[in-house]
Amino acid sequence: MRAFEYVKPADVAAAVRIASEHPGSRFLGGGTNLVDLMREGIETPDLLVDVTGLPLGEIEDRPDGGVRIGALVRNSHLAAHRGIRERYPVVAEALLAGASPQLRNMATIGGNLLQRTRCSYFYDRAAACNKREPGAGCDAMGGFNRSLAILGTSEHCIATHPSDVCVAFAALDATVILEGPDRERRVPIVDFHRLPGATPDVETTIAPGELITAIELSPTPIARTSHYRKVRDRASYAFALVSVAAALDVRAGTVAEARVALGGVAPKPWRAGEAERTLTGAPATEASFRRAADAELAQVVPRSQNGFKVELAKRTIVAVLGRLAAEAEAA
Ligand code: SF4
Repeated sequence: MRAFEYVKPADVAAAVRIASEHPGSRFLGGGTNLVDLMREGIETPDLLVDVTGLPLGEIEDRPDGGVRIGALVRNSHLAAHRGIRERYPVVAEALLAGASPQLRNMATIGGNLLQRTRCSYFYDRAAACNKREPGAGCDAMGGFNRSLAILGTSEHCIATHPSDVCVAFAALDATVILEGPDRERRVPIVDFHRLPGATPDVETTIAPGELITAIELSPTPIARTSHYRKVRDRASYAFALVSVAAALDVRAGTVAEARVALGGVAPKPWRAGEAERTLTGAPATEASFRRAADAELAQVVPRSQNGFKVELAKRTIVAVLGRLAAEAEAA
């Protein structure tokens, strides 16, 4: 590992100022992804700004009925929080589907948003990877791409975003709160992560020196009837081949509102707008759910090994929506 300096600032303003003055710095939270990347020589910061001592570890109810989740809240803490489990079950389920209990105890919510892809070529410094080295090429295109993306890709990168909880946040229209050197910014989660285009190394819209301080969830009643399903190669400690976060409001057998987001299929948490538009006003039946899934996945670009994800994603959407509809009928 390359030598680096270390600082532990006393407050958010100092952390942001130090990071702004050192373009080669990185914030250190749980370190569950960053430290691995540093060991592999993929991330080579000159300075680590340790933010673990900052007062960003609270889960607070907001006056409007929503919730503010501090960026340093641990994944396990959020998953076990009673208010989250009751009002936003999709968030708790997504967290429990991710990583291992040990990692969930260390990993922070803010860090979860900044996870790097698990594309194996990204971690192999002998491989060509545009994300690691802009302009180098992409060995995944003609290589082992079974786990990689089918939506939102470019000719430069087909990596997937690895987070589970970000998929739930996307379905719920969460807001990312950023503290910068000049001001605070509020960014909808769907605008926080970027598609790769010609610059797959630029993964988010975060500006230099900005620190994620919190995630906010609005008081959305539909979130109470929400679920997350993750399909993967083994039952635990594996990244999603496909995942679905969904919420459904069914009235008299008709879909009044639907929220659907997909994981494991795109370079960012994928909000399924076409599926939602198709569902709204339709009968809450398996046929409608299948039409919505077909509409969402009409624009896929499968590669040599990952075409199976198309039907897998459709079936997973239908299954999650079917469960939500059945629960609505029984209520
Ligand atoms: Fe790198 Fe993206 Fe290609 Fe993977 S898919 S090798 S991360 S450019």
